[in-house]
Amino acid sequence: MDTDRTVRVFTDFYRERGHHLITGSTLLPPPGDPVLFTTSGMHPLTPYLEGRPHPRGSRLVNVQRCLRTTDLDEIGDSTHLTVFEMLGSWSLGDYGPSQSLRWGYELLRDGFGIPRERLHVTVFGGDEQVGPDLESLRTWQESGVPVELTREDNWWSNGPVGPCGPDSEIFVWTGGTPPQGTPTTDPRWVEIWNHVFMRYRRLEDGSLQPLERPGIDTGMGLERLVTILQGHDSVYDTDLFEPWMRLLPPLWELDEPSLRLVCDHLRSGVVVIGDGVRPSNTGRGYVLRRVVRRLLTTLRRDNPSRTLSDLPVELLQHTLDHFRTSCGTGVVRDVLLEEERRFDRLLERGRRLLSGPRYRGPLSEEDYDYLHDTHGLPRDLVLGLRREG
Ligand code: ATP
Ligand code: MG
Ligand code: MG
Ligand code: MG
Repeated sequence: MDTDRTVRVFTDFYRERGHHLITGSTLLPPPGDPVLFTTSGMHPLTPYLEGRPHPRGSRLVNVQRCLRTTDLDEIGDSTHLTVFEMLGSWSLGDYGPSQSLRWGYELLRDGFGIPRERLHVTVFGGDEQVGPDLESLRTWQESGVPVELTREDNWWSNGPVGPCGPDSEIFVWTGGTPPQGTPTTDPRWVEIWNHVFMRYRRLEDGSLQPLERPGIDTGMGLERLVTILQGHDSVYDTDLFEPWMRLLPPLWELDEPSLRLVCDHLRSGVVVIGDGVRPSNTGRGYVLRRVVRRLLTTLRRDNPSRTLSDLPVELLQHTLDHFRTSCGTGVVRDVLLEEERRFDRLLERGRRLLSGPRYRGPLSEEDYDYLHDTHGLPRDLVLGLRREG
């Protein structure tokens, strides 16, 4: 099943059950939101989960692109991407947790053909403030899917204050062999879907206030689902990355982890630029700058002459089309190449400075601060340049 069809099966399933399909937002949260990028499908819907009536009603479905800087260190594994898409469904004070879980199971089993034997789920087992989520536990027990109770892993919040609640995570076995262990003991259980039961609001003092109108938010990683449906082991083997994996290896000979990082970061950079962000030294622009510099550092580790000028336009086009951005490939290419030139100038300056007598021996904290504040050379880069020389 290709990606487009997977999305259609998901949205049709929920539309047939009374959900209104809403358009996902860009990666940029609305003005006033303190978070730099949209990190989940529920993020743009926070006010509605907190009680505001949604103009499209109390059952919604959508596809939302997300960016998680917190996952940057995971990049290179087979399941985490910097920019990814979340298939989401919502009940805004409408149906409750059992209905959400029953539909979830029905869709995975009948809509996507994932048998019960490949599923395992976790449910919130309770802590000092809130008791175990017995409703979810009972619902899964009735379905026959193996269920495990956990604590920290099944409590959802989007920050220290705001809406939160217990959740139930659904895992699929990807081991090739018959399933073994549980999600907490064997990493071959891959999490694909989270059903969050937004029942509380966390206040400044840490206490929990029950929401007048509890809601449900579910989010399923599209790339992970597609990986499973297409019978692959990694998101990079799906149709979403097909042109990347076809065009990049002949162009740049990279080891597997580097190839994955370069693909992920380039694709993410293209989407971020497509959504209107430009490199800078603060905020969103700085996230973009870090992503581009990290990919350039990886790309050139073995061969400093590699350049983004060689990047096939087809890849930019494929990504922009998939994310339906109106930005043209010319703009994205210009931004990437300008950033590459800037980085080259910075490296040049750094090499010159660091080769001087002042920086021969070990560097002090003051040296690092000075190099950063006066010359724009972050510590990582200084360390890298010193290793070179
Ligand atoms: P994980 O434990 O694998 O990091 P998570 O618990 O952080 O996932 P959620 O916040 O529950 O993820 O997000 C809902 C779904 O979004 C996950 O079940 C997963 O399918 C998908 N997802 C989360 N993070 C990523 C990512 N970095 N890349 C791709 N898909 C992701
Ligand atoms: Mg995570
Ligand atoms: Mg998780
Ligand atoms: Mg989760």
